[in-house]
Amino acid sequence: MINFDYTRADGVTSAVRDRASELTAKFIAGGTNLIDLMKENVERPTRLIDINRLPLATITETEGGGLRLGALMTNADTAYDKQVSKRYPLLSQAILAGASAQLRNMATDGGNLMQRTRCYYFYDVATPCNKREPGSGCSAINGFNRIHAILGTEAGTPDRSIHCIATHPSDMCVALAALEAVVRVTGPDGDRTIPFAEFHRLPGNTPHIDNTLKDDELITAIDLPANGFSKNYAYLKLRDRTSYAFALVSVAAALEMEDGRITDARIALGG
Ligand SMILES: Cc1cc2nc3c(=O)[nH]c(=O)nc-3n(C[C@H](O)[C@H](O)[C@H](O)COP(=O)(O)OP(=O)(O)OC[C@H]3O[C@@H](n4cnc5c(N)ncnc54)[C@H](O)[C@@H]3O)c2cc1C
Ligand code: SF4
Repeated sequence: MINFDYTRADGVTSAVRDRASELTAKFIAGGTNLIDLMKENVERPTRLIDINRLPLATITETEGGGLRLGALMTNADTAYDKQVSKRYPLLSQAILAGASAQLRNMATDGGNLMQRTRCYYFYDVATPCNKREPGSGCSAINGFNRIHAILGTEAGTPDRSIHCIATHPSDMCVALAALEAVVRVTGPDGDRTIPFAEFHRLPGNTPHIDNTLKDDELITAIDLPANGFSKNYAYLKLRDRTSYAFALVSVAAALEMEDGRITDARIALGG
């Protein structure tokens, strides 16, 4: 374990300011991914900025008729919230398919978006990994890659990366992609929004960059649109065990039906 400093942020502005002044620092929320990565020497932040006391653990209505999930809502409180489970059951179902009850009690919605891949080599600092150490090589492409990407890995596929075949391991994010959620962030230059499909990025030539959040930006909330596809939906997760395992493949599907005809459809694939 490395030495690091610890600060508790008392406001969004000061949290962002602290991070902007020390880009080797990291925000910590539930700690369920970051602490593991620090124990394995994969992440080596010089400072942890604890954001747990920021006022971001609420669910509120948006002007557009949707719901705003504060970034510090836990996965459990989100999934079991009356409004979320009634209006966005696809999201509740996907969240409850992930991790374990204890982990969901600690894991936050913001942290879920930011969790790193579960590629074995990424966690093993004795092996080459372009995501952990750019330019070192990818151990998975010719290695043990049962949990890695299927789509986009064949020669000739558009956007194929020859540097990384890792996937994002989240269940919640697959439902958020299908629902076309929007990520709200705050940085030194103010607030901005990122459509969910533009939040996570393909590995390309820079697999160490997982997403389009800037280093000095904080996720403050996730906006769900008014339509939650609450009547016709399913989240299917295939995995090695029936609980407490990451998806080998997963699908979030949602349909709008009128008189027996499909009028709108959303499908997002994970794992
Ligand atoms: C054994 C195990 C099994 C799991 N199984 C599953 C599973 O099946 N499905 C699934 O989806 N997930 C699974 N998870 C992952 C779990 O859901 C994530 O670890 C969790 O959601 C991360 O949230 P956190 O609040 O603990 O993040 P932390 O560990 O605190 O932080 C993770 C990262 O997010 C950043 N961060 C946190 N909050 C913010 C914010 N507001 N703005 C900007 N950056 C932020 C941190 O700096 C850090 O880099 C599992 C985890 C474990 C340990
Ligand atoms: S698939 Fe990506 S994360 Fe895994 S070893 Fe290759 S570069 Fe690293």
